[in-house]
Amino acid sequence: MKTHTLLTRNSPLGAPLKIIKQSFSPHRGKPVKRISFVSGLHGDELDGLYLCHRLIQSLRHISASHPEDILGEVHIYPAANPPALNQGTRLWPYYGSDMNRLMGSHPGASLPVQMAQEIYKDIKENSDIVVDIHASNLHLKELPQIRIIEEFSEALVPLAMETHVDLVWVHPMAGVFESTLGYNLNKSGIPALVIETGICMRIDPATVDRLFHGMMHFLKQQGILASLPENIPDLPSPRVIFPRGVAQASAKHSGLFVSRVKLGQTVGEDEIIGYVLDPVKGVVLEEVTSPVSGQLFTLREQPAVHAGALLVRMAREGAKKS
Ligand SMILES: [Zn+2]
Repeated sequence: MKTHTLLTRNSPLGAPLKIIKQSFSPHRGKPVKRISFVSGLHGDELDGLYLCHRLIQSLRHISASHPEDILGEVHIYPAANPPALNQGTRLWPYYGSDMNRLMGSHPGASLPVQMAQEIYKDIKENSDIVVDIHASNLHLKELPQIRIIEEFSEALVPLAMETHVDLVWVHPMAGVFESTLGYNLNKSGIPALVIETGICMRIDPATVDRLFHGMMHFLKQQGILASLPENIPDLPSPRVIFPRGVAQASAKHSGLFVSRVKLGQTVGEDEIIGYVLDPVKGVVLEEVTSPVSGQLFTLREQPAVHAGALLVRMAREGAKKS
């Protein structure tokens, strides 16, 4: 393993800011393919850091015990936004900048812009495939999923299938994606898979284990690993959903949402999902029912809701499943 420091900037106080990349290369010969894993672009999303830890640990073990099994190059950027990670915030402290909205060509020369541009350039120059790992916010908990913008689905769905995540969600484009890492890499012809999982400020080890096993399968499928380590189990194929296969329910009243379901559960149409309550008056404002039969892949975690707040997203039953 080689450790690279992409960029160092002195900070007014304390340790300098550094972006670290860990790289694994083939024992001999040219790499068959180059893949990069990125996590921590949002400093409050921690599942990806743990996933990178699992990958680095496992690849270190392989390079020590079976170096001939590494046939490609693997680059891991485990903590892509150090100042925000130190503060436990999504955004860059002081600047309030979202580092995953400064990718591609971006005007300005603030420190967040410089760091985003540097990491973007390095990833672009050194990758044939990229996996960018995110977690959800504190409001909504997500089943581990890969999100794909419709225009890239032809190229990305077959790759996403090899990662064995629970769900692959092909969704429409929105303006907000234009300055993200994933969008810009895909636009420039480098396939980039964006993982969204769990909830921020937490680590769910079981979920990350499953993602880790999936990424090892992916490395094997891509020819980057010659064989799968013995302790990696077989995994089912992901479920793929397209925009018309997604249904959602929102709160009609402001109040406390108390759910009666679990993330990942399959529920029937009109089945009770939970209640919106008025805790002061002690009354039930609303019985929330399932809009369709299907699997819950997003579930409201923060119970205080305003009218219109998203409560669940569901993959309709009968929607394409591979
Ligand atoms: Zn994120």
